[in-house]
This record gives sequence, structure tokens and C-alpha cells, in this order.
Amino acid sequence: MTKNVRVRFAPSPTGPLHIGGVRTALFNYLFAKKHNGTFILRIEDTDQNRYVEGAEQYIIDALNWCGMPFDEGPGTNEKFGPYRQSERKPLYKAYAEELIASGNAYYAFDTAETLDAERKQCEANKETFIYNWHNRLKLSNSLSLSAEETQAKLDSGDDYVIRFKSPQDETLHLKDIIRGDIKIDTNVLDDKVLFKSDGMPTYHLANIVDDHLMEISHVIRGEEWLPSLALHYQLYKAFGWDAPEFAHLPLILKPTGKGKLSKRDGDKLGFPVFPLLWEDPKTNEVSRGYKEDGYFADAMVNFLAFLGWNPGTEQEIFTLDELIAAFDLKKVNKSGARFDPDKIKWFNHHYMQEQNNEELADIFKNSTPELADIDTSYIAMAINLIKERATFVSDFWDLSHFFFVTPTTYDEKASKKALKESTDDLMKQLIAVLNANTDFSVETLTTEIKGWITSNEISFGKVMMPLRLALVGALQGPDVFDIIYMIGKNETVKRIEKLIATI
Ligand code: GLU
Repeated sequence: MTKNVRVRFAPSPTGPLHIGGVRTALFNYLFAKKHNGTFILRIEDTDQNRYVEGAEQYIIDALNWCGMPFDEGPGTNEKFGPYRQSERKPLYKAYAEELIASGNAYYAFDTAETLDAERKQCEANKETFIYNWHNRLKLSNSLSLSAEETQAKLDSGDDYVIRFKSPQDETLHLKDIIRGDIKIDTNVLDDKVLFKSDGMPTYHLANIVDDHLMEISHVIRGEEWLPSLALHYQLYKAFGWDAPEFAHLPLILKPTGKGKLSKRDGDKLGFPVFPLLWEDPKTNEVSRGYKEDGYFADAMVNFLAFLGWNPGTEQEIFTLDELIAAFDLKKVNKSGARFDPDKIKWFNHHYMQEQNNEELADIFKNSTPELADIDTSYIAMAINLIKERATFVSDFWDLSHFFFVTPTTYDEKASKKALKESTDDLMKQLIAVLNANTDFSVETLTTEIKGWITSNEISFGKVMMPLRLALVGALQGPDVFDIIYMIGKNETVKRIEKLIATI
């Protein structure tokens, strides 16, 4: 890559960032870092009606949680700032006027009622209303009106919008890194609004002007923006600017593979569709987030990287640095990527194994009142023994409670299986073996107990099953010798005696 790579993630702060937005941010981040480029955050808040309090901070928090902080953006290295479009408001109008002056745009004075009536008329004829070359001269705009009429309307403060004058009978040749060459017949395009009567630019104008002024080299965004590409190309041409390269990422589909994954799907399908928990400032409605649901950021990033991209090898586990090294926009697929909530659990289980036990112990302790007085290093040792079966920290208690508290009940099925006539006697003998043991290391315990079992020709299950039941309360858990070592001789003997007493 010869040119200086500058990419931007340009969300609109209209609510919590959807998981698809995080994937877009990730692909921008990976591409930037791969090419020693710059990752920019630009807040596209020109639509004041849809502005939501707290959404911008949420976006920033989500990027930081994922480990992909922006290099330039609101409050950070503002050399092309400001990075909030609402703060750039004064600069857009001149660009819209420049397009009018060059004959690429025009004022349109049509009222909402006129346009509505036109739309209805079309619907009645089973047509779709489209404002462009075929009818613009019949509507109220600076192309159909004389210069004096136009000026008079402007002077009297009539509401107007500025529309792009989309050309007739041309074929546009668009390029997309992922989709290849795309041909578009301009006759099907409408004259999009660039500037609104409220004095604000629309997304299209602000987006192009800012991408140009911020020297964006590559636009990487979701497939839903592909229909806007033709207009964006034409805007670059009309301004006489070089267009950046474009890459439109595939849609993220529902787990069934049918239809786009929507913001509402999380509630319906029972998994989060947002990176972080979000509380709506108006309704106080709470939406679950991956972080608060116990997912590790590494797991989420690794999972999202595979939504539409793959390295072309069997490798699935990638750290962020490995993703940066392997990432290639040319390996991004065109077809939609199915969102599989079980797969992110699989990644979480993997990343669980890589976490530091002491750190996990802190989290576990803080969320479990029963552990308040227990030494963190002991908790960490217990976690080490059970985490291969855990996907979330919230699984820990079920998998490890017997390291911390004496079982109060015994699983019924397990009891039936483990308790035999000989149990009472064997458990008493076992207590004697344990009491005779001096160093109480896992190795000695194992050798001595196993030695006692084999030399007396006792069946293993007859000792090990009731022993496990006494220690755990069920026939589950890690190696019994590890449990005995962890809880110590006195507690072990106490638990065996307790079992004997209940037989
Ligand atoms: N503001 C747009 C969005 O919310 C940005 C689209 C683009 O990247 O051009 O996704």
C-alpha cells in the first residue's frame, strides 16, 4: 500500500452501538493497523432528532473495551477536527453552494404536501416516486423556475433543500474492494437531498466533505451503504476530488441465516446484540451487553473478526495482534455472515483458559458473597482446577462451591449409585488411611489411597464414588485427590464422617 492509510469509523449516536457497528469498527481498526495507518472516530450527529444522550460515550467505551482505541477523534489528536459533525455545521453550506454554482445541484422548494401528493399519485399508478431528470422540471426548483423566481423565494425565506442533480443517460463504473466492479445506470438514481431546510447537511454531503477534508483513504462500512455509493462517487467527481477506495462489508444475518440481525433480535432470541449494557436514558429500558454477560473482549473481537472474513486457513484463534497481521480486505466475503451465538461462547470458553487465575479470582470473589473471607490465592487454585469446564465466571460457583463450603445435600441419583452396603465400613477404613498419612501432598495421597485399595482388592468405584459424593455432594468435579489436597485433611475427614452419618 503506497498511500497513507487513513480510515474512519463514523457512527451516528442514535443509541447503543450494535454489534454490527463494532464489526465495522474492528475491520477499520485492523486495516489501519495492518498498514501503519490512522484509525479515526467521527461522530455523525447531523440528525439532531435522532440524537441520544450518552450514545457517543457508549461508542467510545465500546471501542476501548475491545482494545481498539482511535488515533484521532473527539478530544484526541484533533488535527482535522472537530470530529463531531454537529460542530462542523458552518462549513457544509459553502460546499452545497459550490455544487449549485457548478451546476451539479439545485434549490428545491417543493413542500412536504406536494411531494406526498406526487408519491400517492405514483402509488395509485403502481409506480415508485423518484425525484430526478424525468420530472424535476415539473417540480418547484431552481431548474424549473427562473433565476428571479428562485431568488425571490430565497429572499422571502421559503423553506428549501439542496438536491444533487443526478445526470441522465450515463453509466457509472464504481469499484469496491470486496465486490469488484459495479455498473450503475444513472437514470435510476434520484436527486438526493444534500442540504436540509434546518440548515444541516444530510448524511451524504457531510460524509463526503468530511472524508475529503479528513483525507480518508479507504471507506470501510456496512453493506447497507452500498446503494449510496453511486451518489458518493458522483459527489467526488462534481467537487473534482479524488475518491477514496471503498469496501462494503457483508450483512450480519440472524442465527437462522435468514434476514439481517436487528437491534430487536437480542431480546427475541436471548443473546446480547450490543457490546456493553445500555440503559435507555428516556425509557430506562435496559439492553444486555456482552461485557456484562461475562464475555471477554478478546473472545468477542475474535468472534467478530470471523463475521465475513476468514484467513483462508484452519486457524480460528487469533489475538488482536494476530488479526492485524492476518487481516486482508480481499479475503472479506460478499455474502452475509450468519451470527452464531454458540460460536462466541466457544471463543469465550477458549479465552477463559488463557485468563490469569488471580484476576479471575478477584472477579469471582467480588461477585460471590460466600467468598468474602477466602484467600484470593486459594480461590485462584480452585479456579485453576475447574476452569476447563467453565465458559463464564458465572459458571464458577456451580463448578467449585465444594472447595469453599461443605456440601449440605447429596444428589439423589448419585447417592443411589455410590452408596452400597460396604460404604460405611470402607469409609471408616479410608479415614484411618487418611489419618495415617503424614505429608498430605497430592502425590502421596494418591499413592497411599490407591495402594490401600489395590492391596485390599477393593473395587475402585466402591471407594471413589462415595468419597466423591462426600466431598462434592454429587459425582462431579475435578480429581478427588486435588479436592482433598485443597480442602485439607480435617475437612476431608469431616465430610466423610458426615456422609457416614447420613447413610
Ligand atoms: N453515519 C453512518 C452510519 O451510521 C456512516 C456510514 C459510512 O460509514 O459512510 O453508519
